[in-house]
Amino acid sequence: MAVYEVLRGVVLRQTETKEADKILTVLTAEKGKISVIARGARRKGSRLAAVSQLLTYSELTAYESRGWYMLTEGTTLQLFAGLRTDMERLALASYFAELTEAVTQEGESAEEILPLLLNALYALGELRKEPLLVKVAFELRLLSVAGFTPMLDGCCRCGCDCGDGWLDAGEGGLVCGNCASAGFGLLPLGAGALAAARHIVSADPKRLYAFSVGEEELRQLAKVTEGYALTQLERGFRTLDFYKSLLF
Ligand SMILES: [Zn+2]
Repeated sequence: MAVYEVLRGVVLRQTETKEADKILTVLTAEKGKISVIARGARRKGSRLAAVSQLLTYSELTAYESRGWYMLTEGTTLQLFAGLRTDMERLALASYFAELTEAVTQEGESAEEILPLLLNALYALGELRKEPLLVKVAFELRLLSVAGFTPMLDGCCRCGCDCGDGWLDAGEGGLVCGNCASAGFGLLPLGAGALAAARHIVSADPKRLYAFSVGEEELRQLAKVTEGYALTQLERGFRTLDFYKSLLF
């Protein structure tokens, strides 16, 4: 007999399959990242249609069968409607989902990552925060929570207490002016951008977005967080390329 479970999660990816089904990758608080089959979700009037949409946060009733979760019912908790009418914000949110999928493993808890993602989607879609600011904070914090915390306290080579310098994206640490040799993967990190990066890595989750940087500093920091994510994860993201294609 099937054992039904109630899970809260956000859809990171949807794949259309035969007939009118969907396979969903869902990040849940209870089970981490799981694969869910939503039978008939693409059929007109399906009661699974709303909860099977990308980036929707829902309460899902499902049972496990041979490594898959079979979705039987769902209630939408947060649709993030503000994202769906804005191409740029939706594209960025899709990148957040792909990045989240890349740093999470099935069977691992997502207790810290799920609220981080939900807050980022809320900041982007509902609070209408500056997209680049949300991107910078989300990328760096997600990488940190996922085990890729950069060393920003001081120079990672000589240990000096520097207030600015470069981020060595491969080594994952701050490098001071004395230690920086012209090298590959050194991203400039001025005083303002470094202070913001330190805040993002260590702030209380509720205060993640409570920092201010000038426009130039934000652009500098954006190069650092994106370069850091791509270097550490050793890959690119289709959704990121699409987002960037919208900006020019
Ligand atoms: Zn140094």
